[in-house]
Amino acid sequence: PLVLGIETSCDETGVALVRGDTLLFDAVASSMDEHARYGGIIPEVASRAHLEAMVPTIRRALGEADVDLSEVDAIAVTAGPGLVGPLTIGASAAKALSIGLDKPLYGVNHIIGHAAVNQLVDGPFTERSMALVVSGGHSSLLLVDDIATDVTELGSTLDDAAGEAFDKVGRLLGLPYPGGPHIDRLAREGDPEAIRFPRGLTARKDQEKHAYDFSFSGLKTAVARWVEACEDSGKEVPVADVAASFAAAVVDVLTAKTIAACRAHDVETLVIGGGFSANSQLRELAAARCAEAGIDLRIPPIRYCTDNGAMIAALGSAVVRAGLPPSDLDIGVDSSMPLTTVTV
Ligand code: ATP
Ligand code: MG
Ligand code: FE
Repeated sequence: PLVLGIETSCDETGVALVRGDTLLFDAVASSMDEHARYGGIIPEVASRAHLEAMVPTIRRALGEADVDLSEVDAIAVTAGPGLVGPLTIGASAAKALSIGLDKPLYGVNHIIGHAAVNQLVDGPFTERSMALVVSGGHSSLLLVDDIATDVTELGSTLDDAAGEAFDKVGRLLGLPYPGGPHIDRLAREGDPEAIRFPRGLTARKDQEKHAYDFSFSGLKTAVARWVEACEDSGKEVPVADVAASFAAAVVDVLTAKTIAACRAHDVETLVIGGGFSANSQLRELAAARCAEAGIDLRIPPIRYCTDNGAMIAALGSAVVRAGLPPSDLDIGVDSSMPLTTVTV
C-alpha cells in the first residue's frame, strides 16, 4: 500500500510517500530560522508556519514522487508526543485528506517513528532489536519485538534529553541555537580527555534501579561551573576542549548503557534514531563499541535523523502491514504520548 505520512510535532513540516519499505519522496520545510533568534521554538510561530507550509509540502512530495493523490491508500500522521499546536495542524490536514479520499487514518508515535525510519534505509526489522532514540526531547532505550505492536521502554532520561543538554551547553558557550550541531563541530577540534566531566547514573548504587536510565543535568551544571571557574581565574575558556570533553561524557554513557542492555536482553541488532543521532561523536563511538561487542548497528544518514515525514510514513506502513485498525477521525493529539503507544 502507498502511505502518505505527515509530521508536524515541532518545527519541521514533513510529508513523505512510502510504499512498503520503499521511500518514494520525502519533503521537509522548516521554520527553524524564525525560532533561532528567540533561542527556542515558539509554538505559535511553528503552528502558523505548518499551516502555511502544509499544502505546498504535500504538493511537492506528490509531484516529486510522481504520484496522484488518488493513488494514496492510507494517511499516517504524528499524534504525539510534541507541541500541541503544531501537532494539531498536521492532524487536521491528515483528517481532511482521510475524509476527502475516503482512506484510513493512522495516528502514530513520533518517537517510535524515529526508530521506524531505519526500515527504509536498512530494510525491515526481522528480529527482536534494541532502539536508542535520542532527540531534542527524549533519550530512551526501547526493546522492539515488533515496531507496530510490541515496544517496551527499558529506560529514559530522568531530566534533560541528550539534544537538550547539547543545546543548553551551547547557550552557555555562547553558540547559536540549536547548539547541538555547533558543539559537534567544535568538539572535533578539541581534546575529549582534557576535562573529566561526570558520567550520570553510572555509579554502582544506580545499577539496580537506573541501569538503563540517563541523567544529563548534573553534567550540564558541571560544565557551567567549570566554565565559570575558568572565567573567574581570568583565563580564556578552551571552548573546543570543553565541547569535546562534554560530548565524550554524553556519548560514553549513552553507548555503554545501550550495549549493556543489548547484552542483558541477548539482542544483536541496535537501531539508533532521533535528531541527536546526527551527532558525529555518538556515531563514531557507537560504531566502535558495537563492532567490539558484535552488535549489528543501524544508524540512518543524517537527513533521516532529524524530524521528517518519512519516519511517520515508514511507521504507518508497518502499522498497515500489521493489520492494525485505523484511528477514529475524532482522535486528539497527545503532547506526552507514552512511548509504548505506537498508534492511537
Ligand atoms: P523529539 O523527537 O523528542 O520530539 P525533536 O523532534 O525536537 O524532539 P529532533 O528534531 O529529533 O528533536 O532533534 C533535534 C535535536 O537534535 C536538537 O536538540 C539538536 O541540537 C540535536 N542535534 C541535531 N544535530 C546534532 C548534532 N550533530 N550533534 C548534537 N546534537 C544534534
Ligand atoms: Mg526539529
Ligand atoms: Fe523528533
